[in-house]
Amino acid sequence: MRLVTVKDLRTYFHTAEGVLPAVDGISFHIDRGETVGMVGESGCGKSVTSLSMLRLIPIPPGKIESGEILYDGEDLLKKSTEEIRDIRGNKISMIFQEVMTSLNPVLRIGKQIAEAIEIHQSLNPRQAMDKAVDILRMVGIPRPEKRIKDYPHLFSGGMRQRVMIAMAMVCNPELLIADEPTTALDVTIQAQVLELMKQLKTVMNTSILLISHDLGLVAEMAERVLVMYAGKIVEEAPVEGLFRDPQHPYTKGLLTSIPRLEGERGRLNIIRGVVPRPTEFPTGCRFHPRCDYARAECTEREPPQKVLDAQRRVSCWLFE
Ligand code: SF4
Repeated sequence: MRLVTVKDLRTYFHTAEGVLPAVDGISFHIDRGETVGMVGESGCGKSVTSLSMLRLIPIPPGKIESGEILYDGEDLLKKSTEEIRDIRGNKISMIFQEVMTSLNPVLRIGKQIAEAIEIHQSLNPRQAMDKAVDILRMVGIPRPEKRIKDYPHLFSGGMRQRVMIAMAMVCNPELLIADEPTTALDVTIQAQVLELMKQLKTVMNTSILLISHDLGLVAEMAERVLVMYAGKIVEEAPVEGLFRDPQHPYTKGLLTSIPRLEGERGRLNIIRGVVPRPTEFPTGCRFHPRCDYARAECTEREPPQKVLDAQRRVSCWLFE
């Protein structure tokens, strides 16, 4: 059952350099209880997509030019500021990239969580603090009754990320947007945080939009994957199909650039060049300067989206 449907979303930034089409006509959906991964290199539009969904794009210079973000059938882009503020945290929560700086350093942990509860639920301060203790216990913080009185600097990186997840989950959101949730953590803590997100999803049936450049993380967590390049979704597939049989040349490039334990040793494949700046997106297929399969029409015309089956779609002239 659909929870979110994004239709033809365009978010542009109007700067002195010109108009930057950071997100340029993307469409996707997230079902209830589903984890959808969004992958791509830095600068391909993943974070702008997530910020657009919560209407957190700084205006100006940003502007959501067009599209629809249907949540439970209602367009979030048509909601008033008060309505969208009520939805944030309550129905849709976000874990941001900057775990080390996302907590207020001069507020005790308990106070920060309780504040979120008081804003979104009609509980008094005492009840909110009790709930803060419960949620810290749930995310595995030992002795939560004592730790709520601590300041963030007394928590390790992994603990702070658990606190951020606790704050995001405190109002039982239906959708959690996790933007690079484990980037700043070492591998052991990463594994613990992922396990925690899986548990919370099972317990609360929360849908997750997992944004990451880490394909291993997405393979582990997601059921369906969206591959973004230069502001567009170039491929969508169930996670197994994408990793077993990628279709778009960009997806193939991403997957062959991951080191593997099995098979012959040798130099890793790389995708030549870098993601172009939005002011310099090439004509035609935006991937063509980096693509080994590019042909004449790729440089001239944007590839249409081809639906391969009920769950797979790809935008590439090779499929026309
Ligand atoms: Fe490569 Fe052409 Fe496909 Fe773009 S449309 S990915 S340039 S083959």
